[in-house]
Amino acid sequence: MTNKNPDILVIGAGIIGASCAYYLARDGARVTVIDSGGPGGVATPASFAWINASWGNPQPYFRLRREAMAEWRRLAVALPNLRISFSGGLCWDLGPDDMDAYLRDHGAWGYGIRRVNRSEAARLEPRLADPPAAAVYVAEEGAVEPRAAALNLLSAAERQGARVVAGTAVRGLILRGDRVEGALTDGGEIHADEVLLAAGAASPGIAATAGVTLPLTTPPGLLVSSRPHERLLNGLVMAPDLHMRQTAEGRIVAGADFGGSNPQTDADATARAVFAMLQSMLAGGARLEMEGHSTGYRPTPVDGFPVIGRPKDRSGLYIAVMHSGITLAPAIGRFAAEELLRGRRDRLLAPYGPARFSP
Ligand SMILES: Cc1cc2nc3c(=O)[nH]c(=O)nc-3n(C[C@H](O)[C@H](O)[C@H](O)COP(=O)(O)OP(=O)(O)OC[C@H]3O[C@@H](n4cnc5c(N)ncnc54)[C@H](O)[C@@H]3O)c2cc1C
Repeated sequence: MTNKNPDILVIGAGIIGASCAYYLARDGARVTVIDSGGPGGVATPASFAWINASWGNPQPYFRLRREAMAEWRRLAVALPNLRISFSGGLCWDLGPDDMDAYLRDHGAWGYGIRRVNRSEAARLEPRLADPPAAAVYVAEEGAVEPRAAALNLLSAAERQGARVVAGTAVRGLILRGDRVEGALTDGGEIHADEVLLAAGAASPGIAATAGVTLPLTTPPGLLVSSRPHERLLNGLVMAPDLHMRQTAEGRIVAGADFGGSNPQTDADATARAVFAMLQSMLAGGARLEMEGHSTGYRPTPVDGFPVIGRPKDRSGLYIAVMHSGITLAPAIGRFAAEELLRGRRDRLLAPYGPARFSP
């Protein structure tokens, strides 16, 4: 692209759209963000929001996640009001062989991971009722208050001239030949040099209006939240039956794992069971009171990896849809801006283009 200051329409004001808007506006684009709801996202506020490059992923994806973790640290300097903490993660939700492999592989890849025994686990998290005999600890992991972070990024984008239009739905993309030229919205047509689609779970329907296939699953994830309480957790805890963390305001957020529990047929009953588990795992946990629970739908491409880049045979359109969007958001925003404004696609994105679904 020769135009260094293109008009870019970002569809979706969750953490991904907000981050893309921030980096694009920072780097000179004229940005409009449009969202059918209020700013801050749909999956985003329902997220556990663990920032990690933890076990279970191949090395290329590990490297993208690790770069995103580094970008969160840079962002925390640029935007000091981001509510982010790198409080470390204590993890023992895997068997002994998998734990050995995790320590070996991620250690070799440069992750700041180490094995801890029961007494060190108890020192790290003194309120655990039954500290594990063996666990791994990663000091560089953290969490962010996800909706607040998205709002913060949008405000920073607005300070750079971006416009945020809330409460206006996109009905479809405007396609002329092979080129996407904008979007048809409830408020009329919006034309742009580029459209960046970051509408989370709603993205496949919007992409389809330009003939683009985006296979996505949206598994539900239920998380419980306590009322604010004095500090019981220092960092993130990933135990076999429960993942939990304490927010800046003192709420403990927990689910069967970070992706949340399956709400089953009775979400209230599931939430009560998760909360009882949480209480049993912490000394003093009986004093915790449940504030509520939420069920979010995790925008998860069918192969589990992010979709980021231009679809096959369509110019003017760029897609950014993924799970682990909290971890990945700042890297995705920076890389999207580099690609859209300078034509450079970062090598870390190589496996993740949407064209992999259009052979
Ligand atoms: C229970 C749960 C736990 C999770 N845990 C983690 C975790 O620990 N770590 C991690 O990294 N990730 C986690 N995730 C995943 C992460 O939250 C998501 O990947 C991320 O929030 C996706 O952000 P998004 O901006 O793409 O989507 P969203 O936040 O859903 O935002 C999309 C936006 O698009 C808007 N939109 C939709 N349709 C239209 C339309 N037609 N027109 C205009 N706007 C539209 C919506 O209103 C919404 O604001 C979790 C998710 C859930 C649900």
